[in-house]
Amino acid sequence: QAQAGLDFIRQIIADDLASGKHSQIVSRFPPEPNGYLHLGHVKSICLNFGVAIENNGLCNLRLDDTNPSAEKQEYVDNIKNDIHWLGFNWNGEIRYASSYFDQLYNWALQLIQQGDAYVDLQTPEQIKLNRGSFTEAGTNSPNRDQTVEENLKLFEQMRAGEFNEGAAVLRAKIDMASPNVHLRDPVLYRVLKAHHHQTGDKWCIYPMYDYAHPLSDAIEGITHSLCTLEFEDHRPFYDWIISKVDTQAKPRQIEFSRLNVDYTLTSKRKLKKLVDDGVVQGWDDPRMPTVAGMRRRGFTAEGLRDFCQRTGVSKADGVVDIGLLEFCIRQSLENTAPRAMAVLNPLKVTLTNLPENMTLHHSRHPNVDMGERDIPLSSVIYIDKNDFAEVPPKGFKRLIPDGEVRLRHAYVIKCNEVIKDESGEVVELKCSIDPDTLGKNPEGRKVKGVIHWVDSAQGVPAEVRVYERLFANANPEAGDDFMQNLNPESVKVLQAVIEPSLAQASAGDRFQFEREGYFVADEKDFTTDKPVFNRILDLRDSYKP
Ligand code: ATP
Ligand code: MG
Ligand code: MG
Repeated sequence: QAQAGLDFIRQIIADDLASGKHSQIVSRFPPEPNGYLHLGHVKSICLNFGVAIENNGLCNLRLDDTNPSAEKQEYVDNIKNDIHWLGFNWNGEIRYASSYFDQLYNWALQLIQQGDAYVDLQTPEQIKLNRGSFTEAGTNSPNRDQTVEENLKLFEQMRAGEFNEGAAVLRAKIDMASPNVHLRDPVLYRVLKAHHHQTGDKWCIYPMYDYAHPLSDAIEGITHSLCTLEFEDHRPFYDWIISKVDTQAKPRQIEFSRLNVDYTLTSKRKLKKLVDDGVVQGWDDPRMPTVAGMRRRGFTAEGLRDFCQRTGVSKADGVVDIGLLEFCIRQSLENTAPRAMAVLNPLKVTLTNLPENMTLHHSRHPNVDMGERDIPLSSVIYIDKNDFAEVPPKGFKRLIPDGEVRLRHAYVIKCNEVIKDESGEVVELKCSIDPDTLGKNPEGRKVKGVIHWVDSAQGVPAEVRVYERLFANANPEAGDDFMQNLNPESVKVLQAVIEPSLAQASAGDRFQFEREGYFVADEKDFTTDKPVFNRILDLRDSYKP
């Protein structure tokens, strides 16, 4: 019976529990440790861990480490860290497909003995050629009819290292004329003389993903094996292999559509190229759509989870507006990020009639439970260059010569004098305060503009990194070289001045800099003596969910 509001996968799970097919569900998240997790993986994590949590089930973390040449311990460590940061815990110990290599090998022997697998000595080129095409059936290998004994002996020789890479493979014996090319005797094992980060030099043959994955699911008692749509054609082989080996397990593969987001690259291989070519400063560069990059950028785990929930689960392909992600992040920050003032493009302002240095107090947030901070004010302050215009454009409500503006949380000031350097650039303003305007409207006139500011005596210099999208093209993969689609101005480094309360932040703390946007104290580079902030996002929200 269909339950309102459930996506098709959650409906299947609900039905399987209701019918008693399963008394508990077990899902798994199976990354290959060949790079850092990215936004696409977040979707899979939220789905796999989410369905387990919602149904009192379990979710395993399994490293799909069957391809040692591309894998590293560094990636394993980061995957664990990222999942915890996203707010999820896996069932028991972390699992490795490589820890099943003995069992997978024994099942391969079983397949050979049953006449369901054979060792093929064709070259990789011949194998490819003889696979046929969508319109043409494949051609049987000359090795296909070897006896069980011959196959056992050859497979043992593969294992013993007697074949070079590419000289022999173990293949399933299914049907070279199948309309599904994945059933045309797929390769189960290949020779790879590579050191493995978990198993060392124990093996020189490694199972293929299509062989290892279903059987790992079986070993772990996975009930619902959720994967992306490109594996739909692999499902018949998934079911074939489960039916052929000795196991009681009946895992079911269910495919859903990948998450694609505009302006965002979700391919580990391509992200790795950005790192390797020095286009970004590492996997955790705040412009990267990796979990590590988004965390360093200041995105919240809560916002990412909300985004995944809003994008839903289906079989329909599509591209999600990155505005939705930004909307979710802003939503998560609005009520949690304390506010403060920072001037990103400082212009000196001398207050000619401020009677004495002062300390103002103001709440950190409209939610007064978040406490107060001290805001010093003395006769020299900074405002943002963009908040002053000698020749104002139409509708300009900020400071102009002889005009008035309110300093946020402080006085109304009037600009009496504009000081320029030889080149004609404005370098200082001399302003007077209206002493009757602290916490009060001015008498007899309206002052519309409000600008932020920072005291020069106690304000603290800070580096502020303003990030824009990494790609200028909404489709980063457009054309034949994704590197051509990069935004040449994806970061601007500014020398700002921040109110002193901000220098007391801890690395990773997030704030709203009033009128400027959301910012985070950089996880790696922030110190009290040399504060560094990253812009998370500006405040403009054009997205309507
Ligand atoms: P990439 O192509 O970036 O290497 P992958 O799919 O090969 O990604 P894996 O480490 O094998 O990466 O993926 C682990 C899990 O995450 C898989 O179940 C995979 O289907 C899922 N996943 C990866 N990318 C996405 C995406 N864009 N949307 C949803 N799920 C994804
Ligand atoms: Mg993969
Ligand atoms: Mg991949």
